[in-house]
Amino acid sequence: MIPFNKPYLTGKEAHYMYDAVYTGKLSGNGKFTKKCQQFFESTYGFKKCLLTTSCTDALEMAAILADIQPGDEVIMPSYTFVSTSNAFVLRGAHIRFADSRKDHPGIDEDSIESLITDRTKAIVPVHYAGVACDMEKIMAIAAKYNLLVIEDAAQAIDSYFTFSDGTVKALGAIGHLAAFSFHETKNIISGEGGLLAINDDRFSKRAEIIWEKGTNRSAFFRGEVDKYGWVDIGSSFLPSETIAAFLWAQLENLDDIQSRRKQHWNTYYEGLKEWAEKNNVGLPQIPNFATNNAHMFYLVCESIEQRSAIIERLKSNNISAVFHYLSLHKSPFYNEKHDGRELPASDFYSECLVRLPMYYELKQNEIEQIIEVIKA
Ligand SMILES: *Cc1c(COP(=O)(O)O)cnc(C)c1O
Repeated sequence: MIPFNKPYLTGKEAHYMYDAVYTGKLSGNGKFTKKCQQFFESTYGFKKCLLTTSCTDALEMAAILADIQPGDEVIMPSYTFVSTSNAFVLRGAHIRFADSRKDHPGIDEDSIESLITDRTKAIVPVHYAGVACDMEKIMAIAAKYNLLVIEDAAQAIDSYFTFSDGTVKALGAIGHLAAFSFHETKNIISGEGGLLAINDDRFSKRAEIIWEKGTNRSAFFRGEVDKYGWVDIGSSFLPSETIAAFLWAQLENLDDIQSRRKQHWNTYYEGLKEWAEKNNVGLPQIPNFATNNAHMFYLVCESIEQRSAIIERLKSNNISAVFHYLSLHKSPFYNEKHDGRELPASDFYSECLVRLPMYYELKQNEIEQIIEVIKA
């Protein structure tokens, strides 16, 4: 049996969790939380980082920080996970869903400007499969209309964007805010877990308060105020130290994890390239401005029938492949609220994209077996 995903343990996770437990510091914002946050800040150039219990939580924090009010509009792709939109809908936002690109499931950057109205507050690009959206284009639109950009970088750890002047920035370091996930299906994991990256100083102080249930507790512990109390809205967004301890073990092995996943990705790509071209099946595209963090390997089939046949054939060979994301503008919850525009590319990926097994411990011969079954 080849599963779709298998969480990878580097070996140090339980050791660091034991350390956290026996140090007697179990709640959040302790030694391991700070180590992880500093790692992200120094490795990727995020201005300020706060660990969260999920990417969903980081997005909810971002929606609060963006001061989304009922009736405000937020632009994002329809082809994404529910949390991308839920976080904003919770604050009363109306979602203006954009279509995907024809050559890639990411947001069609050229469709964004026509969706902007006086109520638009933010653009939320999703770096699908860890492959960058055209952030230069998106940041320029945002600057022109004075909008916030919140990157859904759930899948995008250790991936980069190159600007036309040659500047390279990590995904998550470009928008005003960015949210990452450490869910067990992502490259770097802590079971459930996430991160909010704050790149605009305007939000730093308030982010910490929202993170600590609406109190100025963090400032109190730094000795900046002599008592702490309720100063804003907030929630319990910070993970316990045991989660951060687990995450730290993963971060120590980030390079190894990434290089192994890239090997897998290349084996798939080389093995399927010719077959895909002959059979009119799409493979992941990496634009020149983007890098590949090997989060995902997928096929874009010609039809839903072809996809079902491939999934069935893999299943009968004990290989688990999955599809995901039904266009959110057609979801039972949002269908009625959507403005009625057709989003054909998003629907196309909903019906035709299939993800192949991708995890650290996948073996070379297993990938070769998967490739043979697909080709057959
Ligand atoms: C995984 C994922 C999320 C949610 O992450 P959680 O940590 O599970 O909350 C949000 N958006 C995208 C694009 C994702 O892939």
